[in-house]
Amino acid sequence: MASLDISSVLQGGYQHPLSRTWQAKRTLTKAMLMYPIFITDDPDAHVEISSLPGQCRWGVNKLEEFIGPLVQKGLKSVIIFGVPLKVPKDESGTPADDAEGPVILAIKKLRALYPSLYIATDVCLCEYTSHGHCGILNEDGSINPAPSATRIAEVALAYARAGAHCVAPSDMMDGRIKAIKRALIDAGFGNRCTLMSYSAKFASALYGPFRDAAGSAPSFGDRKCYQLPPQGKGLARRAIQRDVAEGADIIMVKPALPYLDIIQDAAQLASDHPLACYQVSGEYAMVVAGARAGVYDLRTMAFETCESMLRAGCTLILTYFTPQFLDWLDE
Ligand SMILES: [Zn+2]
Repeated sequence: MASLDISSVLQGGYQHPLSRTWQAKRTLTKAMLMYPIFITDDPDAHVEISSLPGQCRWGVNKLEEFIGPLVQKGLKSVIIFGVPLKVPKDESGTPADDAEGPVILAIKKLRALYPSLYIATDVCLCEYTSHGHCGILNEDGSINPAPSATRIAEVALAYARAGAHCVAPSDMMDGRIKAIKRALIDAGFGNRCTLMSYSAKFASALYGPFRDAAGSAPSFGDRKCYQLPPQGKGLARRAIQRDVAEGADIIMVKPALPYLDIIQDAAQLASDHPLACYQVSGEYAMVVAGARAGVYDLRTMAFETCESMLRAGCTLILTYFTPQFLDWLDE
């Protein structure tokens, strides 16, 4: 019988379930999960989002019913997305920082109900502008960068004042990280609020269910002049380095699964920062749809996708699978 060379044999190192776990550089924990939640302006809402199976739009009055059981299971953090359905929208997204709007009310309510829960808030204008774009526009429909960054910073500061532990601008306007950081510092929130930048946010086909959930599709054109082209690795690297230089505390890559190389780049370029990635609505819907079609087991695939993100270098994952992981990680 031919014997294998010593250098050929690897299987001895991972023959036991425990020794297989030791192969990971980083293991998924509840603290690494941030749950994206949709809060609408009907305070009693509990409405299923058909394109995002298992996810709902919630009203402020329902937050205890929704979040309470998850906190019991070990939920550590959420990121809030506002879904205004009733308010009149305008050119500059005035309802974004309405003191009676769903985001600010939800921040205050969650802070009061769950003192240990970490509350991040998405910051963007597209849910609140009449044109559905993420910034302020010139008359010809192009982005006007300076007032866009100023307005985004105003909104971020309002969320910080309401008690958000973290503000996370997703708009991709040039200069907004610097503008937000300056506004936070000048208002005395420099040491009280974290700035998480959606740094490498690509113009992806995977945002469909989210736009459905948040009602944030642009009324004309698309977002290709500010979100990054999917083939733009160099641009992503520049955006990551810019946001680090402008004062971001956490760097994010979005979407996650088709951009693992960008996550790995970010882990090197911003090696001293926490690194987040967003397993976006379309990625979640895709994993769920494949499981329903019998292609794979849901839980196995959910772990495989998120573990690929950790392997690429993430320390924080925004995912709609968070409630399920809270159960799965206990088993
Ligand atoms: Zn937006």
